Amino acid sequence: MLLKHTPSEIKERKALTINPAKTCQPIGAMYAALGVHGCLPHSHGSQGCYAYHRSTLSRHYKEPVMAATSAFTEGASVFGGQANLVQAIDNIFKVYEPDVIAVHTTCLSETIGDDIPQIVSKADADGKIPEGKHVFHCNTPSYVGSHVTGFSNMTKAMVDYYSEKNGHQSNAINLIPSFVEPADMVEIKRLASDLGVETIMFPDTSKVLDTPLTGKYKMFPEGGVTIDQLKETGSSSGTIALGELGAGAAARALDAKCKVPCQVLNLPIGLNDTDIFIDTLRRMAGVNVPDTINLERGQLVDAISDYQQYLYGKRVALVGDPDQLLALTRFLVSLDMKPVYIVTGTPAGKKFKAALRDSVVDVTDEVHIKVPGDMFTLHQWIKQRPVDLIIGNTYCKYIARDEDIPLVRHGFPILDRMGHSYFSTFGYRGALRLLEKILEALLDRKDRDSSDIDFELVL
Ligand code: SF4
Repeated sequence: MLLKHTPSEIKERKALTINPAKTCQPIGAMYAALGVHGCLPHSHGSQGCYAYHRSTLSRHYKEPVMAATSAFTEGASVFGGQANLVQAIDNIFKVYEPDVIAVHTTCLSETIGDDIPQIVSKADADGKIPEGKHVFHCNTPSYVGSHVTGFSNMTKAMVDYYSEKNGHQSNAINLIPSFVEPADMVEIKRLASDLGVETIMFPDTSKVLDTPLTGKYKMFPEGGVTIDQLKETGSSSGTIALGELGAGAAARALDAKCKVPCQVLNLPIGLNDTDIFIDTLRRMAGVNVPDTINLERGQLVDAISDYQQYLYGKRVALVGDPDQLLALTRFLVSLDMKPVYIVTGTPAGKKFKAALRDSVVDVTDEVHIKVPGDMFTLHQWIKQRPVDLIIGNTYCKYIARDEDIPLVRHGFPILDRMGHSYFSTFGYRGALRLLEKILEALLDRKDRDSSDIDFELVL
């Protein structure tokens, strides 16, 4: 009983979070920055923050995550971090030779009030930024928002700094993902490529955080959107943002800045939201859906109908990031499952909560939603009335163990299993994978709990 002190009785808490269902803003900013080719993320704050951000990403992706820090000590905390950042920019370009430095702030530098554009201008005026190299930034005060907010801020900064109209409208469609796996980015690009649509994805962490072991270390891997591609996004014919919280701000900024029309969709998890993504892309680009994609869709529908009896009515607790939660909830409802407890630590607003409630209205009227909430609350709900399945990140394993409930790992961070970097849960194929994982968990439990008489060979 690792969480034996969690009482089932719920008392209203306003000023205390226990077992948060989020991580801090700069982690998302660092992850987004890694999706720019040749970019070294830079954490403007103390070394402790940067070590935490890097190690969290490294533990999830099982890749060495490179970043730099302004290494604040007491002096910078009192007098501001200008000298540290100017020196850091100089050192980084001389020693590591990135194409780009992406600066994000931390709680400390935000509290001091460091003006990053002014400091970067000073570094430029002092000749610390070599010709053809770039420095951009976003603000990530971690006492508001979460890693999703940080991801969104850094992605929007790419638009604010680089997107421009070049006078010639291209046929390309911009694809902006929320905080999702490199495998999910690969799947989105594959679907677009199968449709024959030219795309620019930003940020793009594929071939950055899912690289092969070659025996040779590459500080800046092959992947990531280039600055030239970011500039071209302003001349694309449209933008699809996947996930309101993680990608919506960048898409709207691009529309406002360069008049590139945008559609903000749910993440393409499950049948319905993948249908909407494919249909939107098809209409925007004026193309037809090829048979290969129709085949994948048909296989998913077939698998759902084959196993529907094991999914029907199953009560599920979900914890994760808002964009993931909304799409997951809609998928589970389409499987006739009942998402009854839903928690995110990311402040996501009333519209998000209303969208979640709308999604479950046909399958259950006992849904509990907490936005922002914590995993302590989720555990208390489960203690009051159990569920058949938990879907969430690695931290859920404590609740799953104590309450003896099957767990499907999904979201960020996953620290104790592999596969998330390589096997997407997006698109029809991704939905098949997710379905497989859910059924595996439920049917393993059914086998374990069946009496000898009910123990079936064929399910
Ligand atoms: S919450 Fe603030 S102080 Fe803590 S690691 Fe994140 S940026 Fe640093």
